[in-house]
Amino acid sequence: MRCPACGADQDRVVDSRPTPTGDAIRRRRECRACGERFTTFERVEHPELLVRKRSGAVSAFARDKVLDGMARAAQGRVPVGVLEDAAAAVERELRTLGVREVTSEQVGLQVLGALRELDEVAYVRFASVYKDFQGPEDFELELSTLRKEAPPKTG
Ligand SMILES: [Zn+2]
Repeated sequence: MRCPACGADQDRVVDSRPTPTGDAIRRRRECRACGERFTTFERVEHPELLVRKRSGAVSAFARDKVLDGMARAAQGRVPVGVLEDAAAAVERELRTLGVREVTSEQVGLQVLGALRELDEVAYVRFASVYKDFQGPEDFELELSTLRKEAPPKTG
């Protein structure tokens, strides 16, 4: 790896550890020529995952967008780090399908599943947008379904 300070291509790795999310390796390097220390990240290169919207438009899957949507629904109720992990898990789930293209519905369902584990309010907020709730009765229906399927924990 070329040194950002002097341009020499001789360095040694002084530290190597996975990032907190576990999807990259962070290496601290030291230039043998000038002693400059710098950091590199090593990641798996994923083949591009495409998302097809209801309109038929296709775009690259963007974990940031998923995270934005989840954060909007959670509105501070769930720590950012937890949401980041959940967004990473959503992407992993979609990639394990082994297809090159998923639908926005599949993405939405994965997000719903993830939010449901994290926070009931965030789940219902996301569902209201995703399922296009028309009125309070839709919220009631969703909540009663949620309670039936996953009784609230006591204690
Ligand atoms: Zn150097």
